[in-house]
Amino acid sequence: MERSLAELEAIVRNKICAVCTERTVAGNCGLEEPSSCALFRLFPEVAKAIRSVKSDDINQYIDAIRANVCSICTDRAADGSCETRQEVRCALDAYLIPVVDAIEEATGMSFDRTFLGAGAPVRIRPEIRL
Ligand code: SF4
Ligand code: SF4
Repeated sequence: MERSLAELEAIVRNKICAVCTERTVAGNCGLEEPSSCALFRLFPEVAKAIRSVKSDDINQYIDAIRANVCSICTDRAADGSCETRQEVRCALDAYLIPVVDAIEEATGMSFDRTFLGAGAPVRIRPEIRL
């Protein structure tokens, strides 16, 4: 079933904000500027990047995010580094696997996460960061 962008964002917000460490006990985003969250500030590009990949390799999703989202993100430095990512303050980076999972579930796509081992962590492995 083809989901609209608004539907996809609602699904992802429901799943990711619920587990995000920035979420307050009242259920709101605890960021000083909630609109600065890269995951939702750039959600159209995030969704487009993930939907453009049809692979059983999670690394291809990571590459797509790096090329299509990080490349236009204001937090990215000229040399390609990202302080926000390094300080684990980018929800897109920190929760990439569940973000892909949520979009996979909503759109019927799938990827092989067996390389992550049993009980895949919520946070992406440091060695495969964006
Ligand atoms: S930082 Fe982003 S993912 Fe986390 S609660 Fe705020 S809006 Fe949701
Ligand atoms: S990792 Fe950095 S450059 Fe990429 S989306 Fe997150 S904040 Fe932006």
